[in-house]
Amino acid sequence: MQQNGWIDLQVNGRFGIAFDSPSLTVNDVISLTRRIVEQGTIGYLPTIITAAFPDVAMRNAKIISEARKIDSICHEAILGIHCEGPFISPEPGYVGAHKADKTLPCDIALIDELQNQCGNLVKLITIAAEASGAEKFTEQASSKGITVSIGHSKEWHPKILDNLANKGAKALTHVGNGIPSLLPRHDNIMWSALSQDRLSVMFIPDGFHLPEHVLKVFLAAVPVEKLIAVSDCAFPGGLPPGQYEMNGVKSFLEEDGFLRSSVGTLNGSSCCLAQAVDVLKRIGASDAVCKAIAYENPLKLIGLKP
Ligand SMILES: [Zn+2]
Repeated sequence: MQQNGWIDLQVNGRFGIAFDSPSLTVNDVISLTRRIVEQGTIGYLPTIITAAFPDVAMRNAKIISEARKIDSICHEAILGIHCEGPFISPEPGYVGAHKADKTLPCDIALIDELQNQCGNLVKLITIAAEASGAEKFTEQASSKGITVSIGHSKEWHPKILDNLANKGAKALTHVGNGIPSLLPRHDNIMWSALSQDRLSVMFIPDGFHLPEHVLKVFLAAVPVEKLIAVSDCAFPGGLPPGQYEMNGVKSFLEEDGFLRSSVGTLNGSSCCLAQAVDVLKRIGASDAVCKAIAYENPLKLIGLKP
């Protein structure tokens, strides 16, 4: 794949269409994918989150695979599916905007069933390190060619991350988010994530999930080959500023692109990956660095050649 755009491993939706919607259609996936590509994201993973499991996840994974079968742009641009959950922490802060009562212990049979629905499109799955059965699940999923990433995780200790890396885990999901806003000063996942050298660090450089001074630390602390930018875009992205209901929670998209919920959580971003790359350039990332972290590294993480 020639680089004439960006690769985004976490897209929950955009332009009013959400991949966890129970009313998602094949035409939705086709029209949304075309608009995502027009905005410079040439490859991406539609992301299905905890709340959709199990029924809507099965339904929508099949719809996404059908869109790929009948539309050449979807076939090229949809590189797989990212399951963000449901095997994550239910604890406040760590659960983020996911629904705590929909989290589950790790269950490879559930993912096998999902893969049957969508023709093995699941390429990436985010689990909590402490989810019941995480070690075995990491081994099983990795052996089936699914990349396991640790996120929405209450456990963070370097030894635990190292252990999961030994089992096949490859990354950490949106480091710096999906965690409580107040943490112990040294014993916390930020230092653990930024100091370890085995797992790739996915992060959301939209300027809101991580402010620019924190993004500078990420660029300085993490080897460039380990950094992966994602948009984590949610369905209000690309829509006019205003009020939107997201998973039953009132949310506001501000004029400047800040998407926030009425309960103080972040529900994903409103940016496309090209806009996130602009933020990285603004804080000094070179073209080569941006190419690595928003094109080459995401492809490599899911086993594709840049
Ligand atoms: Zn998340």
